[in-house]
Amino acid sequence: MKYIGAHVSAAGGVENAPLRAHEIGATAFALFTKNQRQWKAAPLTQKSIEQFKANCERLGYGPKQILPHDSYLINLGHPDVDARQKSLDAFIDELRRCEQLGIDRLNFHPGSHLREISEEACLDLIAESINFALEQTQGVIAVIENTAGQGSNLGYQHEQLAYLIDKVEDKTRVGVCFDTCHAYAAGYDLKNDYEGVMADFAKVVGFEYLKGMHLNDSKAKLGQKLDRHHSLGAGEIGWQAFRKIMQDPRIDDIPLTLETINPDIWAEEIQTLKGFMNSTG
Ligand SMILES: [Zn+2]
Ligand SMILES: [Zn+2]
Repeated sequence: MKYIGAHVSAAGGVENAPLRAHEIGATAFALFTKNQRQWKAAPLTQKSIEQFKANCERLGYGPKQILPHDSYLINLGHPDVDARQKSLDAFIDELRRCEQLGIDRLNFHPGSHLREISEEACLDLIAESINFALEQTQGVIAVIENTAGQGSNLGYQHEQLAYLIDKVEDKTRVGVCFDTCHAYAAGYDLKNDYEGVMADFAKVVGFEYLKGMHLNDSKAKLGQKLDRHHSLGAGEIGWQAFRKIMQDPRIDDIPLTLETINPDIWAEEIQTLKGFMNSTG
């Protein structure tokens, strides 16, 4: 089964996210469970939690259809110990929010070395942070997102994702979110070599770890290492890769969500993607 949706707004409360997803014909959705640009957030209220669960139940959104994204401020590989601790505390809070909402996975960007430490030293810090956070929480899978490799952000190679997974002690609680825009910008040619890219992912990471995808076209060129999303079909990747994803049986039963730049056409994009599921070519 393919679950297709978008990263919808949680303005006014997380309970509104499933309503907004339903409005655009989505069968999956992503959301922020707190303001993504602030460190502090009020705890979720009991009312908000209950309404979120009730809305998801009523509109047919189960755990395999929901992938929250953590705050952009969090850097689990921060070279500075105090700054890293601040990120870790915020990350644990995000995992707990997921627990409260009955969500089984949380998507995050691995981290940045800020050109102060080596890539490997930073990856080790990230793995250490993930292990600590998982010990403090229950049941929620830490879903590492691949990145475009912009600035000093890590996670732009399948090998880096595999390195992190290898260092996480509880393999049942670690996974990967594959962002098509980030992969392309990082140098994985989904446009001309979809099978090659996915074969490499299968070999290096493994589809058993794939817990979600972000479906975005890319304004940046292949290997340009810039994180610039575009509407599907309007960027450098083009429609064909998305058609292949929709027909790829290795990519079933996980949330596939748009983070494309024009929310006004999300319903249309979702409709087109759904159409690819049955068509050939
Ligand atoms: Zn993404
Ligand atoms: Zn991005």
